[in-house]
Amino acid sequence: MTSPESTAIRVRGLRKAFGRKEALAGLDFAVPDGAVAGFLGPNGAGKTTTLRLLLGLAPADTGEMEMLGEPMPGGRVPVLERTGALVEKPSFLDHFSGFDNLWWFGSLNRPVTRERVGEVLGRVGLTEAAGQSFGTYSTGMKQRLGVAYAILHRPRLLILDEPTNGMDPQGRVQMRDLLREIHAAEGSTIFLSSHLLDEVQRLCDYVVIVDHGKTVREGYVGEILQSGQETWEVRVADGQQERAAGLLLAQPGVLSCRSGPRGLEIRLQPGQSAEVNRVLVGAGVPVVALIPHEASLEETFIALTDTEGETGHGNRPVPGAGVDSGAKARPPEPGGRS
Ligand code: ATP
Repeated sequence: MTSPESTAIRVRGLRKAFGRKEALAGLDFAVPDGAVAGFLGPNGAGKTTTLRLLLGLAPADTGEMEMLGEPMPGGRVPVLERTGALVEKPSFLDHFSGFDNLWWFGSLNRPVTRERVGEVLGRVGLTEAAGQSFGTYSTGMKQRLGVAYAILHRPRLLILDEPTNGMDPQGRVQMRDLLREIHAAEGSTIFLSSHLLDEVQRLCDYVVIVDHGKTVREGYVGEILQSGQETWEVRVADGQQERAAGLLLAQPGVLSCRSGPRGLEIRLQPGQSAEVNRVLVGAGVPVVALIPHEASLEETFIALTDTEGETGHGNRPVPGAGVDSGAKARPPEPGGRS
C-alpha cells in the first residue's frame, strides 16, 4: 500500500467495537496532504465511525490517529480549528435564513465577518437563497449550506461524510464541481466518504477502500486503476460464443468470463489480451473484435470487497450493468445480460 510522506490524516491499528460488533478492526491508512481523497466501503464497513473518531465525536478503543501532523485526540484543539467537517446531517435552525444560520453558528467559537459569510454562500451557489429560511431549502441546498459552514473558516482539512447523500444527479454534479472549486481556491485537503464509485473516480485523486473495519486498498486512483485487472470485450463469429467462452475459461490469465450485450466480457490479468487472441484463433474461432474497456474503480471495488457482507441499508454501492464479480468457475450466461 502507498504510504505518503506528507500526510493530512494518518490512522494506525484503529479499533472500535460497539458491544460485540467490531466496527473497526485494526484500520490503517494515510491521506496525502493536499489530496482530494475518497473513503469507500460497503454499508457498515466503518466509514462514518472512522470519521467520528477522527473528529473526536467518539473515543477509539485502541490505535493511533494523527491529523495535520498532530496526534488525535490529544492535539484536537489546534487541529479542529483548521478542520471543517460535515459528518452528521447539518443541524441548522429552520426559521433562520441560510445567511443567519451561517452567521450565528459560524460566530459561536470564532469571529467571522459578514463579508466572509456572503462570500462562502456565493461559493456554494446560495447567494439568491441567502435570505430564505433554512426550513424551505431542498436537500441539496441544505447539504450545500453544510459545506458552506464547513469551509467558513478556511480549513486546511475538510472532512465530509457522504456530501451528496439524498441529492439528485444534477445536485451531485454541482456538489462535485463545488468541491473541485474549493480544492482549487482554498487548497484544502478533502477527505470524503461516498457510496458513488463513479463520483469518487471523477473527483478524487486518492482513495481508501475499507471493508469489515479494515483497509483493503489505498493509493492514487491512477495507480489503482493501472495495477488492477483489465476488462475486455471479445466478439467472435456467430455461433462461436459458447466455444470461445470454454476456451477462455481454461486460460490461467482469464479471471472471469460472461456474456455481455455484444460479446463476451472477460477480466484478465494485465497483458494477457494477445494470448486471448492467439488461443481463439489457434482453435479456429474467428475473432471479430477485441475491445478494451476503460478500467473503473467500480470493478476494483467489487473485486476487493465482500459485497455479500452486511445488509440492511439501502445504499450499498451498486454494480452497474456489465460488471460481474463472479468467479472464474461461473459459466458464462448464454444470451447475454445487460
Ligand atoms: P454506511 O455506508 O452504511 O453509512 P459505514 O461504513 O459508515 O456504513 P458505520 O456507520 O461506521 O459504517 O458502521 C460500522 C458498523 O458499526 C456497522 O455494523 C454499524 O451497525 C455499527 N455501528 C456504528 N455505530 C454504532 C452505534 N452507535 N452503536 C452500535 N453499532 C454501531
